Amino acid sequence: MNAYFRCIDGCEGKFSLTDIIYKCPKCGSLLEVHHDADYLKKKSASEWKETFSSRMGTTKWPFGSGVWRYKEWINPDIDDENIVSMYEGNSNLFWAKRFGGFLGMNDLWVKMCGNTHTGSFKDLGMTVLVSQVNDMIARGKKIKAVACASTGDTSAALSAYCAYAGIPSIVFLPADKITTAQLVQPISNNSIVLSIDTDFDGCMKIVQEVTKNNEIYLANSMNSLRIEGQKTIAPEIVQQFGWEVPDNIIIPGGNLGNVSALAKGFSLMLDLGIITKKPRIILAQARNANPLYRSYLKNYESFEPVKAEKTLASAIQIGDPVSVKKAIKGLKDFNGIVEDASEDELADAAAVADKTGMYTCPHTAVALAALIKLVDKGEIKKDSRTVVVSTAHGLKFSEFKVGYHESSLKGIESKHANKPLRLAADVAKVTEALEKEFAARTSK
Ligand SMILES: *Cc1c(COP(=O)(O)O)cnc(C)c1O
Ligand SMILES: [Zn+2]
Repeated sequence: MNAYFRCIDGCEGKFSLTDIIYKCPKCGSLLEVHHDADYLKKKSASEWKETFSSRMGTTKWPFGSGVWRYKEWINPDIDDENIVSMYEGNSNLFWAKRFGGFLGMNDLWVKMCGNTHTGSFKDLGMTVLVSQVNDMIARGKKIKAVACASTGDTSAALSAYCAYAGIPSIVFLPADKITTAQLVQPISNNSIVLSIDTDFDGCMKIVQEVTKNNEIYLANSMNSLRIEGQKTIAPEIVQQFGWEVPDNIIIPGGNLGNVSALAKGFSLMLDLGIITKKPRIILAQARNANPLYRSYLKNYESFEPVKAEKTLASAIQIGDPVSVKKAIKGLKDFNGIVEDASEDELADAAAVADKTGMYTCPHTAVALAALIKLVDKGEIKKDSRTVVVSTAHGLKFSEFKVGYHESSLKGIESKHANKPLRLAADVAKVTEALEKEFAARTSK
């Protein structure tokens, strides 16, 4: 076993990645995938870099995927033929030239993790999880279906990967709390779609009960296989910068799996000598669901779940994050900061970013709002190389965009609304309207 599950709190025991197990049987803590150091050190740092560089952009199965390019670091023992991949990852780094310019920064980048098959970074983890399930089924394990509770994007990814592999899937969604685009994805990909009268945390409790008998496999991020895929965000960013490490990385967080994954990716690269510098990891939370921000203010001395209030950043409306321990450890290891953003701050950050050519989802906007605040406080230096992790494609959140520009979002001022002009089919009227608009825009 070159990789296996073990308890994050140090209990004894190794569990095969082909076991159906999500938590430590001794203490109930989460598990993590541990990689055998001797196996990973068989190649030197420069050999690993050469391997990954040679795979970038290839179609050779499965290495054309931005996740499976790093296969030996993710899930080394799985058969290539059982991998379920849509060549996820490989997302571009967007140089935020004009947006950075507003802040006096010229080395600001956005890692576009939402530019992917189902439109969010959840694809990165789901390819690993569904591949593992596919491998188990190929080995004769009885698995009826794969299930998850979701704030929208996990279910979209789960249903697409399961549909690709021909494995049944079930999604538990909080009724009326996700967008139309997010709802229609699992419907289209033929999942059993359960819309439940509760919030995400409520769905989570139910899905854990339903998956207890092991015939239905649980795909939530307590399942640490997903973290392995998501951690490739770290090496991919570094590889894109010619193996240089940025100074700061800002990532929005809800259940806190992704920030844990990011830290895990950097820790592995440090262990293997691929990098020597640590980036600073910055977590951004919506003020309406900010339990880790509150804990950070108390130096993590205690952590209390909160009741998550409604936020435009619906995918991070989570008050009781399952990966909080991993996240705190990761943030401590990487000189972390936690910042939060109000609804107005995130809505305006998205609008300003969009004016510079982005098309931000509200979660990415939370990270951008945190960036603005931290630059303002001097905690992020203007001359630093900073990367914002964009977690989803803006097209999934049309209601947010339309509502903002119609100034119809409750409690939001919509300072940067850009209303379409409804005009008669009359050249003189159009010319007049354009002149007014030019004048208004140059005076700003
Ligand atoms: C899932 C999700 C997040 C939060 O990730 P966690 O691992 O739960 O912290 C952020 N943004 C989007 C768009 C997501 O789908
Ligand atoms: Zn344990």
